[in-house]
Amino acid sequence: MTDQNILDVLIVGYGPIGQTLSILLGERGYHVAVFDRWPALYPLPRAVFHDHEIRRVFHAMGIGEEVENISQPSATYQWFNADWKTLIEIDWSAESISDGPVGYLFNQPSLEALLDHKAKSLPNVSVQQSWEATELRQQSDCCEVTFRKGALIDGDWTPTGETQTLRSRYVIGADGANSFVRKSSDIAFEDLGFEEDWLVIDLKPNEGVVLDVPDIGQWCNPARPTTMVPGGPGFRRWEFMRLPHESVEDLQKPEKVWELLAPWVTPADATLVRYAVYKFRSLLAETWRDRRVLLAGDAAHQMPPFMGQGMCSGIRDVWNLAWRLDLILKDIATPRLLDGYTPERRPQVRAVIDASIAMGQVVCISDLDAAARRDEAFLSGQVPPLPPFPGLTDGLVCVRRDFACDAPAGLLSVHGQVRDADVESRYDDVMPNGFHVITLDADPQTCLDDASKAALARIGAHMIGITDDVSQTVPGRVLFDLSGKYARFFAEHGVKALIVRPDYYIFGAVPTLTALPVLIGELVSMLCVETVRDAQVFSTTLA
Ligand SMILES: Cc1cc2nc3c(=O)[nH]c(=O)nc-3n(C[C@H](O)[C@H](O)[C@H](O)COP(=O)(O)OP(=O)(O)OC[C@H]3O[C@@H](n4cnc5c(N)ncnc54)[C@H](O)[C@@H]3O)c2cc1C
Repeated sequence: MTDQNILDVLIVGYGPIGQTLSILLGERGYHVAVFDRWPALYPLPRAVFHDHEIRRVFHAMGIGEEVENISQPSATYQWFNADWKTLIEIDWSAESISDGPVGYLFNQPSLEALLDHKAKSLPNVSVQQSWEATELRQQSDCCEVTFRKGALIDGDWTPTGETQTLRSRYVIGADGANSFVRKSSDIAFEDLGFEEDWLVIDLKPNEGVVLDVPDIGQWCNPARPTTMVPGGPGFRRWEFMRLPHESVEDLQKPEKVWELLAPWVTPADATLVRYAVYKFRSLLAETWRDRRVLLAGDAAHQMPPFMGQGMCSGIRDVWNLAWRLDLILKDIATPRLLDGYTPERRPQVRAVIDASIAMGQVVCISDLDAAARRDEAFLSGQVPPLPPFPGLTDGLVCVRRDFACDAPAGLLSVHGQVRDADVESRYDDVMPNGFHVITLDADPQTCLDDASKAALARIGAHMIGITDDVSQTVPGRVLFDLSGKYARFFAEHGVKALIVRPDYYIFGAVPTLTALPVLIGELVSMLCVETVRDAQVFSTTLA
């Protein structure tokens, strides 16, 4: 931070997305302040699933082991018809590209408590709870945000009369579905059309009680579409769709809650943690950036939870923002690097929302004939399998046809166990975060020219070789591919080298090492590497 009165980044909203970004930036040494309206964390469970990619982010934040202690690996996600015949199976227990299963189940308040502890342990992160953002103004060199203080009086948030105004180079709106930051930047939501009410019930089975319930499943029963999942270790969740003839009030009565749970669990077996009706919607902000203001998490997108991707998508947003802001705040790249944020994140999240809606449309059928047609289509094998998880299609990715390989640019990169000398570890733990040039069966120190090495040094990139041939390993320079995943991934795509971004997505790949300098040149020019202070760039764009 050059001006001691201007923060590097101010985050509005201290839900899981604001918490995650404050840690990612705080650990990189930036002066960050994060504000939330409420004096305490939101206590009620919402997200229960996160995927393998997000687990890699938790590891990168240094909380991988703690998250492991509050979560459990997922079983296969099963979708049944009313007669309990299997319509779809999604194997979330299978080995993922990231070293470990596809997904994990957890309890959101336990995760938020862990993130809160980590954020508050960072001396350069200021966490300010009980402050509500009320005004946001953009200037050429910074933003100004005004907050008013509140206190809980008889359960109601009540202003105390105290206010404060802070200046920051960037402001991130991680302030959830009704985002003040989005509204004050005049950014509209595109409504993708899904809207259903579901009653969400979390409970804690009594010690020793074993419930007869699919571990993780959707019961596509037109009489009552129902979800049943673990709510993290020691918890279970049920979700019941509101039927057309019912009101929200009908569903929220305790006797109705136990009536719906009765086929599986009774008050003698478990304690209710909470129940509430949620409106599942599909909304996408038109743009995720207005000059120095960026949106992330539910402030930028909302989706029905059938793929368990709402919070995961928000964590991808801030994981993407963290390295962009890092390069800009270090003056390695210009603020034009932020131009790629919306083109990268929005289409990927759009594809995830579309998939979540498609899955929602399978389960949310209350009409008997429509359900019979659906069952017939699935049971006769007429429904194609789910598409693979979407990668990045725009932004900082390089798909050059002249490289003539099965370009994995934009895909999440492979991750596995490696051995360096005698030390075995996760690749991400052994290599510092940043851009990585990874060469197969070759030492990049010897095969790259000086100009390429200098270009990589300028952007703080790392070079490393990887091989499954132990005779080719070089301590600190060519790692042994202990899990064999790298050799398989490179062979599958016909490539000899990858450039992986700090968020683990592949910038580009080449089929021969001789093409690597060209790819490095592309990266450096696309990164907008210039030593221009961002104030100058913004003063021209604002003029
Ligand atoms: C029933 C249900 C199940 C779900 N299941 C999953 C799942 O399995 N997997 C998954 O990935 N996601 C899931 N989700 C989605 C996930 O819970 C959300 O995407 C996630 O909580 C969003 O986090 P956030 O930080 O963006 O927003 P929030 O958690 O809403 O946090 C926003 C914060 O901003 C604060 N704020 C708002 N306005 C202001 C202001 N003006 N000033 C200061 N502070 C402000 C709020 O007080 C709040 O604390 C589920 C959601 C629901 C409802």
